[in-house]
Amino acid sequence: MEPYLGNPAYTIAVLKSHGISARKRFGQNFLIDPGVLSDTVEAAGIGPDDTVIEIGPGIGTLTQYLASRAGKVIAVEIDRSLEDVLADTLSGWKNVRILWGDILKTDLAAIVRDENEGRPVKVAANLPYYITTPIIMKLLEGDAPVSGITVMVQKEVADRMQAGPGTKDYGALSLAVQYYAMPECVRIVHPSSFVPQPGVDSAVMHLEKYEEPPVRVLDEKLLFALIRASFNQRRKKLVNGISSGAGLPVSKEQSETAAAACGFRADVRGEMLTLAEFAALSDALTGMGVKM
Ligand code: SAM
Repeated sequence: MEPYLGNPAYTIAVLKSHGISARKRFGQNFLIDPGVLSDTVEAAGIGPDDTVIEIGPGIGTLTQYLASRAGKVIAVEIDRSLEDVLADTLSGWKNVRILWGDILKTDLAAIVRDENEGRPVKVAANLPYYITTPIIMKLLEGDAPVSGITVMVQKEVADRMQAGPGTKDYGALSLAVQYYAMPECVRIVHPSSFVPQPGVDSAVMHLEKYEEPPVRVLDEKLLFALIRASFNQRRKKLVNGISSGAGLPVSKEQSETAAAACGFRADVRGEMLTLAEFAALSDALTGMGVKM
């Protein structure tokens, strides 16, 4: 069966016939742009051998597109009031399973084990924007094997994912994304592609997960603690930010010695360091006995 939702007339008719109005508190903005939907599935590289986890199927729009290409779609939705409409819109696709619950509390590793024999899955979603970062961090850092993530996010978040040192958008999210994955902007999406329209521009991002991170560190926890501490106090010099960083067992003397050993200027700020430089700093501190 060909996907039909996404066509604005059908979407509006389905919303009307089921008496659905979008719930703001669940970040509901339904897609009504077939071009955006096709580009999303294309960028996700989905084929008949794939099991896809979709976050927030809503009324089943992206789900129809995913299910038309994938072997299986497991869609996790928090809003149980969508049960009837999803039963209706997905009745033509027998390879979809809806799991009701909060994605942040869902055991994704168990789903991958039970539904895909532990083999890596792909994730695709038009994300609820109020929890974009925790969802992305769960997918990147969690123990569920995920090979690629293709998601609609606010454009501002897409900019942060791709930013490099010394730019205003560069931060802990940039470094976490770039440590685990290769980010690529698939396309920018105007508010008119959704109903109701969000107040911001959006972007479809594809994050292809690395098999091995681009830098190797002795202590991954320490690396991310250093990154967080540096960006929590963005305007501070690196050596001060990491020695006063909450929960970091690093003295001022240790931070100065490690920074000097890495060849950093004494007044450098964390926002100027590349991922490889943070990794070098992390290993220098590990070499000095610092542990998380
Ligand atoms: N996929 C649909 C589309 O593209 O038209 C809807 C996308 S809408 C932006 C986000 C969806 O995520 C909504 O269906 C919302 O109910 C769901 N959602 C919000 N918070 C969630 C959570 N914590 N866990 C699972 N789904 C959630």
